[in-house]
Amino acid sequence: MAEAYPWQDGLWQQLAGRAQHAHAYLLHGPVGIGKRALAERLMASLLCQRPGPSNACGECKSCLLLKAGSHPDNYVLEPEEADKAIKVDQVRDLVSFVVQTSQLGGRKVVLIEPVESMNINAANALLKSLEEPSGDTVLLLVSHQPSRLLPTIKSRCVQQACPLPSEAMSLQWLAQALPDSTDDERAELLTLAAGSPLAAVNLQAQGVREQRALVVDGVKKLLKQQQSPTQLAEGWNAIPLLLLFDWFCDWSSLILRYQLTEDEAGLGLADMRKVIQYLAQKSSQDKILNIQDWLLAQRQKVLGKANLNRVLLLEALLVQWASLPGRN
Ligand SMILES: [Zn+2]
Repeated sequence: MAEAYPWQDGLWQQLAGRAQHAHAYLLHGPVGIGKRALAERLMASLLCQRPGPSNACGECKSCLLLKAGSHPDNYVLEPEEADKAIKVDQVRDLVSFVVQTSQLGGRKVVLIEPVESMNINAANALLKSLEEPSGDTVLLLVSHQPSRLLPTIKSRCVQQACPLPSEAMSLQWLAQALPDSTDDERAELLTLAAGSPLAAVNLQAQGVREQRALVVDGVKKLLKQQQSPTQLAEGWNAIPLLLLFDWFCDWSSLILRYQLTEDEAGLGLADMRKVIQYLAQKSSQDKILNIQDWLLAQRQKVLGKANLNRVLLLEALLVQWASLPGRN
């Protein structure tokens, strides 16, 4: 049974409470808030032979088959490898599933996540299934970046925005999910996860607070010339490159912001406040703008899984970062 998150209660009522179901839904919103769980819960309830007012029954033939992962009338389409594209061949297999008749005599339900990982050919192949819905088939599309979808795909779906939960609700939920952490630690994790509570739990599991402490300490030593870019780049071997680029991008924005506003409330997490203030005072705005452009461009490459030499890239970053303070 898919997990039900407290911040989805309203969404769930809207979706599950519909008198008649659409042929396709697009659930979209930020990563790490449980859109997939919401879609799975809806899938179970649409397939259930005795659905209750708020959930699938969990006991009928359909529910048992779904639990066993062998339901003949449901289909999950996702990239074969994490973060890779959904291929056109995969969509063709899906299309032939959609035209079959239901084996249990009820609905068929298709879940696709993330929809934006389809290239144009795959998306066009899917479009046919959206244009000519077959019988009682419901498509559940999950997207983290709906702006990347073809307008023709979006327009054929009932769009359901799944917003970030409020900070208070996320913190309340995190207190139960991470009972061994302190209030401050949970607030910090939620900030690092850009407000997504499930992403915060993942970050905790990856040891992100320890990694961040290591990086912050390294940046301070770099600026005091106690450690070289090469030493640091090698010492950060276990830290995901994207996370590092996220932090440095964030820091460059905070420096610029402080240069423009001198607002001490906008200095970000406590661990870097003094460094950000120092760099804002000691560096020219041009330098910060330059390094920010560079960071954003490199971050795109990291996101695009470009074949990067990790140590060289980090060295290049740290050499530039070390030269921020000063006139030249
Ligand atoms: Zn059931």
